[in-house]
Amino acid sequence: MSSARRGASSFPEAARVELRNTQLRRNLGHATHTIREKRAAVVAELEDWELLREAGDAIKRDVTANLDRYLEQFEAAATAAGAMVHWALGADGASDIVAGIVERHGEREVVKVKSLTTDEIGLNDALARRGVEAVETDFAELVLQLDGDWSSHILVPAIHRNRTEIRDIFRRTIGPADLTDDPAVLAEAARLHLRARFLRARVGISGANFAIAETGTLVVLESEGNGRMCTTLPEVLVSVVGIEKLLPRFDDLGIFLQLLPRSSTAERMNPYTSLWTGVTPGDGPQELHIVLLDNGRTDVLRDPAGRDALRCIRCSACLNVCPVYERTGGHAYGSIYPGPIGAILTPQLEGVDAVPTLPYASSLCGACYEVCPVRIDIPRILVHLRGQAPKRPAERRMMRALAWVFADSRRYRRAQRLARVVPRRVAGGGPMRGWTSSRELPPVAPQTFREWWDERRS
Ligand code: SF4
Repeated sequence: MSSARRGASSFPEAARVELRNTQLRRNLGHATHTIREKRAAVVAELEDWELLREAGDAIKRDVTANLDRYLEQFEAAATAAGAMVHWALGADGASDIVAGIVERHGEREVVKVKSLTTDEIGLNDALARRGVEAVETDFAELVLQLDGDWSSHILVPAIHRNRTEIRDIFRRTIGPADLTDDPAVLAEAARLHLRARFLRARVGISGANFAIAETGTLVVLESEGNGRMCTTLPEVLVSVVGIEKLLPRFDDLGIFLQLLPRSSTAERMNPYTSLWTGVTPGDGPQELHIVLLDNGRTDVLRDPAGRDALRCIRCSACLNVCPVYERTGGHAYGSIYPGPIGAILTPQLEGVDAVPTLPYASSLCGACYEVCPVRIDIPRILVHLRGQAPKRPAERRMMRALAWVFADSRRYRRAQRLARVVPRRVAGGGPMRGWTSSRELPPVAPQTFREWWDERRS
């Protein structure tokens, strides 16, 4: 599949199915609460957290405002350092570029760093169609790949799986059959399985958390060290990078290396931060390809109200605090971008018409905005996208009738008088039923302000 979407059902349909899974809700509730509390603790350690957020916000705003200039600067710097830069407009084009590079080297297997951007373009499937196996080397991604499953969280892709389930998957696939569910034992099984693949791979594939325009440097943050193996051991490295991942200057990285680990894994510093600039003779990959991916991003940029979504650094903090995500899990969003960020990004990348229910997958409580390290006002964008979502005929009729009533003060006053005498049960029925099935219709005040005012004056 060459898009961010994975499911065919609407959000309410898929959520209804997921909500029946009590195991999933237990796994998610435990995981999100743990990360949430840890994040709050490490953020509280920094007195200047709000200043860091403001700085991150300002840098990313500068990037989106001057993206054309920074992209050209990045291309020139990366090329000067020995990288080959490719431009890809869509998912299929990007996958073709990567597959072409792998084929030119006569390889049938590649090792991969966890990368949402390559998931977005459906790279593994595209490579498989051309006879190339892409081996996921991140522990959780490996679990999902072995089971034919897909990610439900930006940072913890297998958050919907517990260790007993992982043990069973490993027993069935990579063995051994007497594996226990001890985390160290499971990690060792994955390590043994991957080690041989790391050593024989001649092509590695990565994404990037950041791409620095000033120097042409790519940056990957990770926890397991598998990313470092993929980006240093193979002779050829292909990095697929969304065009919004740019930072203008090398010094900007200092801000984001504080914001991202604290917001994502709730760590002061993540265990592995890999940076590479072009190629260095005799050290690391000797051929570096960078695929700069648009895939709908310039369309998002065109919308002044929606473009803030491009500031996202994929930390996942908004998922961990979202009451909707916590209950439905990631698969209900039908996209590799779940949670609040998915609810604003997927409709913009794919078109609101394609996923009209996603902007409604939120209670608009604002928790996502409060934790976002680059201060993306997700609720505001959700409301903006709701305005673009196609309306049901009954909803359209109702809105037209309301507009007609509000357009004339006499009509409006008559409607207010009518509302007082119509029983609540009747008023909440008909087209209002969907809304009132889980909410109470507020009572109408016995007297309007104008009536009260007139009475007082007389
Ligand atoms: S929207 Fe903000 S909180 Fe959510 S993943 Fe992106 S950067 Fe993190």
